[in-house]
Amino acid sequence: MKTKNRPSIPQLGRFLDRVEFVELNRQTLTFLTRELFEEIRTGKINIPTDEDESELVKLVLSRLDTLCADSLVPLINATGIVLHTNLGRSPIEKSILDEMQESIGSYCNLEFDIDSGKRGERYGHLTKKLSFLLGCEDAIVVNNNAAAVFLILNTFATGKETIVSRGELVEIGGSFRIPDVMSASGTVLKEIGTTNKTKASDYTAAITPQTAIMMKVHRSNFSVVGFTHEVEFEELIPLAQSNNLIDYYDAGSLNLFDAPYLGNETCAKSLFEHSPSLVSFSGDKLLGSVQAGIIAGKKEFIDKIKKNQLLRMLRVDKLTMAVLEKTLTRYIQKGPQAIKTHKLLSKTIIDMQVQADTILSHMDHSQKLSIGKTSTYAGGGSLPQHLLESLALIIQDHPKNAERLIKALRANGLIARIEKDRVILDLRSIDDDELTHVTAILNTVLEERP
Ligand SMILES: *Cc1c(COP(=O)(O)O)cnc(C)c1O
Repeated sequence: MKTKNRPSIPQLGRFLDRVEFVELNRQTLTFLTRELFEEIRTGKINIPTDEDESELVKLVLSRLDTLCADSLVPLINATGIVLHTNLGRSPIEKSILDEMQESIGSYCNLEFDIDSGKRGERYGHLTKKLSFLLGCEDAIVVNNNAAAVFLILNTFATGKETIVSRGELVEIGGSFRIPDVMSASGTVLKEIGTTNKTKASDYTAAITPQTAIMMKVHRSNFSVVGFTHEVEFEELIPLAQSNNLIDYYDAGSLNLFDAPYLGNETCAKSLFEHSPSLVSFSGDKLLGSVQAGIIAGKKEFIDKIKKNQLLRMLRVDKLTMAVLEKTLTRYIQKGPQAIKTHKLLSKTIIDMQVQADTILSHMDHSQKLSIGKTSTYAGGGSLPQHLLESLALIIQDHPKNAERLIKALRANGLIARIEKDRVILDLRSIDDDELTHVTAILNTVLEERP
């Protein structure tokens, strides 16, 4: 096609009446079309002669598509890290999202008491289920665990002291630093012990009339080995309570139950047997649900938190509450195997061998893949010391191609990792219902690379 002189620009109103634009937002179209016509008029872009205006229509529609393309897109996580913070942490079971439509697709009783017809308690919806699962007296849900830490310190220790071990002043990825959050909340940080050793006597020696909280923080993304000592939260509880102080554990992840694949961390039920004042943890780590911060503990303290004005800013929406409630119901009704995060974390090598065989049997170029053992971590600050065995599909290619190959997979929505100069697909974080999709992506990408 030859570019001639500038095509004649149609009259805007008539152009927008074209059949191609029916059912589309006329205001958006007006804006995009004006912009396009202006660019043609000023010679910023050239388009071929366009007798039937079809080129113009195509351009407007393509600009609309670009504008409307989703920024948040689904990906396949072949990194092996199940709780990958950059990939949205915990995956959510699709059937939970389907069920949710019913509870919140319309109006709901978020703050409404159906019995009395009066205003109801928005913070009470999840209490019964959380109490059952955790073994706590009461619980409340906020925006995330960072908000939970902030709110607890702000409620009970503004202008007062909070005692924390030096070895626990951690930074969790994404600019969450315990000392910074503490000072923002208004509490005074009282560091005790040394990086590697903190004893029970360090806590008691630090108590002053200004002390409000003895806090323990889960070392989510590192471990201290060698000449070390720390005070377990179970020990801290009586220590704080006998001194009329609040014991608080920022547990980070917290698993609801014990299982070999979860290593040897204390589970929620055994923590709550010790009647702690307050514990907080994330909704999208080992719990396997949405971003949220769960605060659980004694009713008298949860009641105080409910009275803090800041809760209004940190509270969760009905969408979050609905996903969380459905997740808790799954735990109660069916157990962790009905939660995607736990389905993935608990897979055995044999399970993953079956997955690998399924992919290989549908590959056009299965000779380019081999199967090998590897290992991975749960991720998201959960189980930092617990290596999980895993199985991977290894792409046989020259090491110098690895970067290019991993990029091509990424462009197709599959996030792999490089190990020993080879691109590998770690099956730990891939669910059975994704295998067909993985196979298709591999076929496409490896096809292009003979
Ligand atoms: C992950 C984590 C947080 C932050 O939790 P978010 O839910 O991401 O806000 C805070 N403290 C600890 C110990 C953690 O592991």
